[in-house]
Amino acid sequence: MKVLVMGGAGYIGSHTVRLLLDSQIDVVVADNLIYGHKEAIDERAFFVHADLLNPLSLEKIFEIHKIDAVIHFAAFAYVGESVNHPQKYYYNNVVGTLNLLDAMLKHNVKKIVFSSTCATYGEPLYTPIDELHRQEPINPYGKSKLMIEKIFFDYEQAYGLQHISLRYFNAAGASHDAVIGESHDPETHLIPLVLKVIKGERADIKIFGDDYETADGTCVRDYIHVEDLASAHVLSLGKLNNFNGCLNLGTGIGVSVKEVIKSAEEVTSKRCHFSVIAKRAGDPAKLYADNRKAIDVLGWEPQYKDIKDIIHSAWKWEISKRY
Ligand code: UDP
Repeated sequence: MKVLVMGGAGYIGSHTVRLLLDSQIDVVVADNLIYGHKEAIDERAFFVHADLLNPLSLEKIFEIHKIDAVIHFAAFAYVGESVNHPQKYYYNNVVGTLNLLDAMLKHNVKKIVFSSTCATYGEPLYTPIDELHRQEPINPYGKSKLMIEKIFFDYEQAYGLQHISLRYFNAAGASHDAVIGESHDPETHLIPLVLKVIKGERADIKIFGDDYETADGTCVRDYIHVEDLASAHVLSLGKLNNFNGCLNLGTGIGVSVKEVIKSAEEVTSKRCHFSVIAKRAGDPAKLYADNRKAIDVLGWEPQYKDIKDIIHSAWKWEISKRY
């Protein structure tokens, strides 16, 4: 089996590429390397420099390689930027995916596993959030992902597309051997920022509000280890024949911002200075997954359930990172 991984040089993509190769699946990685890192691409994979907005670059991949399925990670994913530059998000994420689907259909490739997000739900009406929760995203990033989910259902009806959209909660951690991990520029995510404070690269972590209706007043999120996300993608490939639709990927466990900071202090035996500033627009108090459908459909089970283990893997990467 040969799989095209669009965005295979990115954070979640690069971990999935490694697991595919370890599972004896051939991999072609395509990436425009705008946010992805060449160093993150496993050397066993065949790399192609391609861009979703350059249809010819996509065409070529399918002409040269006999691709059986696509895993599609390539997207812009900064929520705040998507509000200020929706054009960039709708073109790359939506038009880009349409271009990818064009190339796939032209070459009779009908299987796709897609990176979606819990941001497609918008403000939660209840937690844990299941897949039947209404979807009303509150920013262009979430809207762009929801549009693609919907396009897949229409393509299923009309062209027989087989699709699984995986709605990630908060991706976190790094590979077990600390060879690859999270490296964003700019970095906006809580765990790497906390670890940079502990490392002495930043003065303190700003907590966005501590008067939410949660046990300690700070926001609660569901941190899912990147290798658990990777395993769900590999399992999804095997389920495309009998399931089309959307699955939540989370641990089902909510962890607050203050709990993340405290756990990071325990894992590293170092202090993490913090200060509390105003709430960030669009941050709901609590977001965590009902993950039973993914467990049921995929036979998947997250291996990392303790936030300290997730932070420990992120810390090993943070102190040794190569990119
Ligand atoms: N957060 C914070 N300070 C930061 C970054 C994040 O307090 O500098 C909080 C944020 O409000 C959210 C949680 O940490 O409740 C996780 O945020 P992140 O940006 O990592 O992921 P998101 O939940 O936005 O996808």
